[in-house]
Amino acid sequence: MAKTAKGVPAGKVAPVKKTASAKKAAPPEKVTVVPEKATAAVKKAPPARTVAPKPPRNESRTALVRRARRINRELAEVYPYAHPELDFENPFQLLVATVLSAQTTDLRVNQTTPALFAEYPTPEDLAAADPEEVEEILRPTGFFRAKTKSVMGLSRVLVEEFGGEVPGRLEDLVKLPGVGRKTAFVVLGNAFGRPGITVDTHFQRLVRRWRWTEETDPDKIEAAVGALFPKSDWTMLSHRVIFHGRRICHARKPACGACPIAPLCPAYGEGETDPEKARKLLKYEKGGFPGQRLKPPRSYLDAGGRPAPPLGAG
Ligand code: SF4
Repeated sequence: MAKTAKGVPAGKVAPVKKTASAKKAAPPEKVTVVPEKATAAVKKAPPARTVAPKPPRNESRTALVRRARRINRELAEVYPYAHPELDFENPFQLLVATVLSAQTTDLRVNQTTPALFAEYPTPEDLAAADPEEVEEILRPTGFFRAKTKSVMGLSRVLVEEFGGEVPGRLEDLVKLPGVGRKTAFVVLGNAFGRPGITVDTHFQRLVRRWRWTEETDPDKIEAAVGALFPKSDWTMLSHRVIFHGRRICHARKPACGACPIAPLCPAYGEGETDPEKARKLLKYEKGGFPGQRLKPPRSYLDAGGRPAPPLGAG
């Protein structure tokens, strides 16, 4: 039988053994958000390579639930500071930033929104703005004309139908121009504390690699993964999975050899398994670099005000 670099038979999950790095991840760190309808006019990126959705041999439903929850617990140790990677101070800012994050990095959005919110701090201000001026501010985020339309349009609806406040209900949020379920869940989960699963590109790729579901439709993925966890886990689970996708389990070159949840992953070996080479693939704080937030929350920093250390350091 073919074996992985760890001596694990292909198609089987390796025995669970905590890695040093998983235990260690103490210090602080931080999610991307990807707008949907807002991006109707925006071209889609090419799909990431995913593992054939074959569950580990003979895995029962109970075993799947156990393994999924185990992965979530391991990720909680690796990313105790997981959080949205968009800077925001109120629900309106988070809503707009989330729409702007389509097809660009959260860092780029974080570099752009301070000027936008300084000029247009409320939905009333943005609804009454000169579109050309807004376009100029949003230019660095790409697709700035479509994004200007979306954020001005949603501001108008907020003013006309919701008294200038962001509503805290899914059914209201998805009525806003450019806001679909994913954006709505980001806002509900992070500005209103209501549980939600954010099915972005990272989330889709990882849950398929882990064979949590064979679904490809985001709404079906949301339902399938949601059924594996209690509701109260949904928001933090989303943050952790997206953190992992951005830092370690990349679309094209997953750093399997430096991955703390490799023993639980049926797709181990899809990426680089040599530990040294894999470590070089790590990104953001796990690779020793800054994260995407310009104004990270306190929980992201350690006692000395420094970002979380790279994986395996110290
Ligand atoms: S990096 Fe490799 S081992 Fe880790 S979760 Fe991704 S595919 Fe699995």
